[in-house]
Amino acid sequence: MTANIEIRNVSKQFGAMTVLDDLSLSIRAREFIVFLGPSGCGKSTLLRMIAGLETVDGGEIAINGERIDHLPPGKRGIAMVFQSYALYPHMTVRDNMAFGLDNIGVARDVIDARIAEAARILEMPQLLDRKPGQLSGGQRQRVAIGRAIVKEPKAFLFDEPLSNLDAALRTRTRIELAQLHQRLQSTMIFVTHDQVEAMTLADRIVVMNNRRIEQIGSPMEIYERPATKFVAGFVGAPA
Ligand code: ADP
Ligand code: MG
Repeated sequence: MTANIEIRNVSKQFGAMTVLDDLSLSIRAREFIVFLGPSGCGKSTLLRMIAGLETVDGGEIAINGERIDHLPPGKRGIAMVFQSYALYPHMTVRDNMAFGLDNIGVARDVIDARIAEAARILEMPQLLDRKPGQLSGGQRQRVAIGRAIVKEPKAFLFDEPLSNLDAALRTRTRIELAQLHQRLQSTMIFVTHDQVEAMTLADRIVVMNNRRIEQIGSPMEIYERPATKFVAGFVGAPA
């Protein structure tokens, strides 16, 4: 399952502050797209608007041709993985993964099969009966990804999922995410302020700054032909 996502003339205000200003972007089916920009430029807000966790103040968002900006998060067919993992501490890994599916009436045997498959993909069947407090940071991150996989979403949204991991684990998880994308062939949107993560993961990078998109292109295009001074400074060759 996969999705193309159209973002048309989207704006967002928090009080008097405009956070996103008339922003448009077409995300292709099966694409691994990275939103890259400095802290505070609106990456998370844009991702949360796609997920349905923030309202859209102007413009519209469509998935596979259908407007979704008025649908609740659970009806959009997408799954989000948070930087903080957002696991329920009192539930086992298995129950954490089952939680969102129970709610929408997926049959128990289907849930069990999906959990077994996700645990196999993420190489963590031995963790299913533990609770989050008994897991390392890296293991919690896998559970958070597993919880997204079992929803069989059309698109995965990742908000800085590697930033709480140490350097070695960050590299390993980055490779695993690339493999997961190969395997699932889902659309993936990945938010980061880290240029190296963006360059190594992305089919295309959306460079954001100051409420706007500065440039959209492949890592090579962005690196070799930066469209603005900001992009050149942010992504370009080290000083
Ligand atoms: P990024 O993810 O790129 O670091 P964010 O999307 O989190 O940026 O934030 C963009 C801007 O919007 C920042 O100035 C931030 O302080 C502000 N902001 C984000 N969420 C809220 C909110 N719920 N209420 C008020 N301001 C917010
Ligand atoms: Mg953010």
